Amino acid sequence: MVKFRLTDFFHPWLICRWRRVLWKSQYYSNDKLRSLQWKLLSGLLDHCFDNVPYYRALFSRLGLRRSDFAGLEDLSAVPILHKDVLLEKHEEFKADNFERFKPRLAHTSGTTGTPLRVYWDRASNVLELVCQWRHFSWAGYRLGQSFLDIRSRVLDVPDGYLWNRMCRGLEVSSIDIDESNIERYARLFRKYRIRLWRGHPGAIELLCRFLRDAGIEDVKPRYVITCAEPLLGYQRKSIESWTGVTVCEDYGLMEHNALICQCPAGGYHIAPEYGIVEIIRDDGNPADPGEEGRIIATGLHNKAFVLLRYDTGDYAVRSDEKCACGRTLPLVERFTGRIDDRVLRADGRWVSGLSFVFYHTTGLRAAQLVQQRRGSLDVYLVPADDFSEQTESHVRRELIRTLGESMEINIRRVDEIPFPSPGKSKLVISELNSRDVP
Ligand SMILES: [Zn+2]
Repeated sequence: MVKFRLTDFFHPWLICRWRRVLWKSQYYSNDKLRSLQWKLLSGLLDHCFDNVPYYRALFSRLGLRRSDFAGLEDLSAVPILHKDVLLEKHEEFKADNFERFKPRLAHTSGTTGTPLRVYWDRASNVLELVCQWRHFSWAGYRLGQSFLDIRSRVLDVPDGYLWNRMCRGLEVSSIDIDESNIERYARLFRKYRIRLWRGHPGAIELLCRFLRDAGIEDVKPRYVITCAEPLLGYQRKSIESWTGVTVCEDYGLMEHNALICQCPAGGYHIAPEYGIVEIIRDDGNPADPGEEGRIIATGLHNKAFVLLRYDTGDYAVRSDEKCACGRTLPLVERFTGRIDDRVLRADGRWVSGLSFVFYHTTGLRAAQLVQQRRGSLDVYLVPADDFSEQTESHVRRELIRTLGESMEINIRRVDEIPFPSPGKSKLVISELNSRDVP
């Protein structure tokens, strides 16, 4: 979990510059978009040759010179980067002149349960902010309007909410909300004049249900954007039918190297100015339009910690269609392999985003949560050399905080997670976790 700090994102000159570019580039021709990408990639490759130990060594081993990269298509000469290599050679990805880019440490477990530290530098933060702003604007949001950020994870604050005046964002956790206090939250939404809701789809869906059941109608949002997990069909239906708003999905990564935003016309637009997204078949060749492949991502801005052709482990179907909204940004047809990492609490409530439990743990190589029945969760931890009792007690404590005291948590230390998969391992395996279970 990373706390939002405005200073990490607030670089007015850079923001204005990218605001100007991104509002135009969403209508660029394919050639013009590719030429913008190449300009950015070219600078990044110069930097890799000069300043990034991992790539200097890799290119030298492969006999690749800078002159071998003359266009976007030459990026395919770089081998796909898997997460285990990133974990093993982590420090080598940090640029020699790392500090110059004002990096900020961010912990992620992604959805794999293997803790990973990544860095966000100034430029990548600005692109994140401006691309999100552009996505909000597609829905109709205007700068200065207030938004709600709702997640299904523990929010450790005394009042049960956080108000960030500078960005006009109200942060709440769906875990704290129930029938008894829904009126209080509705008052907050009125007080801060919340217009846009953004967050975990499960959390948003739950909030809609509490408001609907309490008969509170006047705090409905004008725009809804879900992020961090797949939006399940029944969730979309339920949110849209109560709010009357078309829900847009957002696909991003803690690694800051790919962003895909759904527009109200339904198209999943890649943000090519942010990162290069390739859809690659398991045999390593590019997927054809209409075919499924893995999302391989190259962030174009994060010079502090460069990841070229990073294997996200997520799957999508490639598309060469045009979107009805008129934007020319390339599309994916749909996501096919996002991880459904939900666990059912004893009280019948779904909780997702459990990867946060592992954000600040050390001493783990991998983890997996397996739920076979309601009320109980089996936790498999694969210890690393620096594993300690504290790791286990931290995981247990965080799980109980989220899943409640009545949840039976069975922690086992193992040499391997019980359900490995060829690509990205799933953090949560649940026999209850069908897309059809409401
Ligand atoms: Zn569109």
